[in-house]
Amino acid sequence: MIHRLDPQTRSKIAAGEVATRPASVVVELVENALDAGAGTVEIEVGGDGTDRIRVADDGHGMSESDAELAVEHHTTSKLTEADDIETVETLGFRGEALPSIAAVSRLELTTNTGGPRGTRVVVEDDETTVSPAGRAKGTTVEVTDLFADRPARKKALASPKAEFARISAVVTRYALTRPDVRFVLRHDGHETLTTPGTGRFADVMLAVYGRDAASHASTFDSVREVKAGGETATVEIDGLLCYPDVTRSRRDHVHVSVNGRALAEPRIRRAVVEGYGTLLPDGREPVGVVRVNLPPEWVDHNVHPAKDEVGFRDADAVAEAVESSVRDALSTADLRRSGELAM
Ligand code: ADP
Ligand code: MG
Repeated sequence: MIHRLDPQTRSKIAAGEVATRPASVVVELVENALDAGAGTVEIEVGGDGTDRIRVADDGHGMSESDAELAVEHHTTSKLTEADDIETVETLGFRGEALPSIAAVSRLELTTNTGGPRGTRVVVEDDETTVSPAGRAKGTTVEVTDLFADRPARKKALASPKAEFARISAVVTRYALTRPDVRFVLRHDGHETLTTPGTGRFADVMLAVYGRDAASHASTFDSVREVKAGGETATVEIDGLLCYPDVTRSRRDHVHVSVNGRALAEPRIRRAVVEGYGTLLPDGREPVGVVRVNLPPEWVDHNVHPAKDEVGFRDADAVAEAVESSVRDALSTADLRRSGELAM
């Protein structure tokens, strides 16, 4: 059930600007699909993304009244009271993504909870129209004419190629973080990424980085305790690490997530690199997926409007846990193994 947040809760939320560029729109729509329990997320992008972004999922969908509320400000099904912000386990919670995107585009949402009839909601020029629509269970959000009446924002965008590269990077990060979900990304009609949704890290690695990387990698899984202010929390760290013979020159191939949220999180990325230590050739960067899970009250997802970084109760302790997990994983992995999927 979607409802409106009270003013006190709203004031605690750092919504900032949600729709700053096409990639930020894609992040919000993909996170909504994952929050809805999707098994498949299909993303279609036209041009630099301002022409068209379409995200379709097979998640739980929305009732007609929820679909109508979803595009209004401060409406969410994920948070009820201000204190819930501390323990929120969904990716969304601000109730601001859909209305913010709709404010700078034409937004069409088609959804069905699995009943005989679905709902279509169109927001265009501040007008919302609701009508019945045929659709299987799930939700499709189509955003067209993004920033059509925001010339300054449109001008600030990079080339279509560069904007699509950003979109591709965020979709790839989520695909690697969620091997259990099937992702399809299309750009101007061409499929650029498909992951199988098998739940196996090696399968997504194969889809994203190819056979060489997927066959020179090991999954790992560790549990560490971290302490802060007299309290102890259990941190679970897992993922897949490519062996040090698979490297890149750029830094953005360590894909980090914290409590399911894929984000840049430079401190965790650095901790992963430290974990490789001297195994890495000079000037080379590792390739891997590292998922960090800790009790929600130890993480603050609300510090960064674009949700790129999180606040940790003790960031150094978490970084140390990540570093030692990676170091241990690499020291036990059979680094000479090659030629087959190391799963
Ligand atoms: P938030 O995710 O912060 O709650 P949004 O504006 O992104 O805010 O979405 C508002 C509400 O619309 C969500 O709380 C959810 O109930 C519903 N919703 C949005 N996208 C989907 C989707 N793909 N599937 C099902 N429900 C959705
Ligand atoms: Mg959302």
